[in-house]
Amino acid sequence: MTIGVVGAGTMGVGVAQCAAQAGHDVVVVEPDPAARERGPHRLREGVRLLRLTRPTAATGPTGTVRWADSIDALATADFVVECATERVDVKRAVLSALDAVCPDRTVLASCTSAIPVARLASFTDRADRVLGMHFMNPAPLKDAVEVVRGADTSTETLTRARALLHGMGKRAIVVNDGPGFVTNRVLMLTVNEASTVVQQGTADAATVDDVFTSCFGHPLGPLATADLIGLDTVLDSLVVLREHTGDDRFTPSRLLAELVGAGHLGRKAGRGFHHYAHTRVLGGR
Ligand code: NAD
Repeated sequence: MTIGVVGAGTMGVGVAQCAAQAGHDVVVVEPDPAARERGPHRLREGVRLLRLTRPTAATGPTGTVRWADSIDALATADFVVECATERVDVKRAVLSALDAVCPDRTVLASCTSAIPVARLASFTDRADRVLGMHFMNPAPLKDAVEVVRGADTSTETLTRARALLHGMGKRAIVVNDGPGFVTNRVLMLTVNEASTVVQQGTADAATVDDVFTSCFGHPLGPLATADLIGLDTVLDSLVVLREHTGDDRFTPSRLLAELVGAGHLGRKAGRGFHHYAHTRVLGGR
């Protein structure tokens, strides 16, 4: 199968790696020349990380990966996973272009963190072939994907999405549509509140995360999780959640907005709520 991926950022490169390792031919579309140029290196780093983490499971990509600058390159794609920036205007432009360029049979999946599938589907004339495929970061290391079924998503589309994920060695956890689905409806609220806790001086970021890892036994605290996601993506997701729920609890905390404004975007920038000396390879635009 030919799998299209739109966006060569943190998620796009990870999804491209998963698809190529499952033996598919992958075309990644990225308009930003710098991000496109970094793509192959980041994908190789992803393969290296997978080999280090799961030496028995990891194989090199068996499918081909091609990097393109225009959605026109997806004219023969069977399945597309859209991983562009988390902004409604960006998603609208990408999905309507995909709808115009891709064959009728093509499923358009979105890796959106929070935008309802119904909204995304409304940018196309194929609502039955649109769904959410919410991979987690780093995509190649995660065993499950939150799959979001919109009101109009057909059973066949869901079956095709499950089959694609199965081939990648991943389980689909299917949920119904709604802003932030299950994952980010809950997680973004926690991250935002944790940021406010730091802002108000109740505890510093290290202590907040220590409480979650040491007291609750979570593998990662909420602020380290936010750094891994990318604070710009967290901020964008909160804005989307605020817009789609009307709930003020999703208004981004002042500290989070300040960190993003200062370019402290998390691991990919070497600094976010925490400092990272050697981890730029995990993310980066
Ligand atoms: P990112 O900023 O790392 O990458 C986004 C990429 O999209 C950039 O390279 C950008 O140049 C590109 N882009 C922008 N406009 C485009 C267009 N019109 N056409 C094609 N590409 C375009 O962001 P990311 O973290 O990879 O997030 C991508 C999507 O995945 C977002 O919807 C985000 O909410 C979601 N997501 C992110 C995470 C995470 O942990 N980072 C996890 C799950 C889902």
